[in-house]
Amino acid sequence: PEPEPEKQGLLGRLLGRSADPEAKRRVFDDAMLESLEEVLIAADLGVETSLRVAANLAEAHFGKRVSTEEIKQTLAQEVARIMEPVAKPMPLYAKRPQVVLVVGVNGSGKTTTIGKLASQFKAAGKSVVIAAGDTFRAAAVEQLQVWGDRAGVPVLTAPEGSDPASLAFDAMAKAEAEGADLLLIDTAGRLQNRQDLMEELAKIVRVIRKRDPDAPHNTLLVLDATTGQNALSQVETFQKLADVSGLVMTKLDGTAKGGVLVALADRFGLPIHAIGIGEQIDDLAPFDPEEFAVALVG
Ligand code: GDP
Repeated sequence: PEPEPEKQGLLGRLLGRSADPEAKRRVFDDAMLESLEEVLIAADLGVETSLRVAANLAEAHFGKRVSTEEIKQTLAQEVARIMEPVAKPMPLYAKRPQVVLVVGVNGSGKTTTIGKLASQFKAAGKSVVIAAGDTFRAAAVEQLQVWGDRAGVPVLTAPEGSDPASLAFDAMAKAEAEGADLLLIDTAGRLQNRQDLMEELAKIVRVIRKRDPDAPHNTLLVLDATTGQNALSQVETFQKLADVSGLVMTKLDGTAKGGVLVALADRFGLPIHAIGIGEQIDDLAPFDPEEFAVALVG
């Protein structure tokens, strides 16, 4: 049986599947260019990026008889070429503590990602402290404590409803006193009340700068791959709220292929530090542009 459409790669949907790739050889004509554009747009690459990528493919193949395999290869190369410059691990600084502010809408995977990051850094010999900065969600604080226990990293909390900025300030003092290498600060993600959120994030940044004018050293925006095109507006919003320095995309283990990352790379050029590939503590991987491109193209 044919695989379900969403489980096929891009080219599967464009050209269909065949046991014999040669049987699918056809001329790259205007119709093919148009379906390629449609397929790329449907895969969340964004209109501008899709048209350009399709045009580059046309430049290579137009008027020639091409096989699915050839198109796939050129497309994967094209995508990898766009993604290579943004595939960068989170930079580490000599500064102690290096302050990492983690932002993103609720449900995007902030808590989980902080737990995974804490575990990875700890395994790399770093001492890590977590601050549960979403003081309005008791469940988020509890969840973070569970992740902290798993990672073997202390989680600093404050009473429900208390000021996240003062928690962040205290956490910096504590991380400093302990000589911790990294302080990971969770934040609230209630986009419904953008004004509050903006003020809250601005206050956190202002307050931690009182202890270290260079902090936060990294501001990570966590995005959920299953939200598709929504990621674009989330990046825009959070760039206004905070000085986003890098991205983590979660839930790439499911059917979502994260095509929107191509549009993001093209439009914002923000580094992609890591991807979430599951719910377990080790399910955080470096972003690999070639692997991503091959999986996207399918
Ligand atoms: P937060 O509200 O932003 O802190 O989000 P959470 O960390 O609580 O994550 C929301 C849900 O997404 C939880 O059920 C997580 O287990 C799940 N999740 C987070 N990252 C991933 C991932 O990479 N893959 C999968 N499959 N699920 C994830």
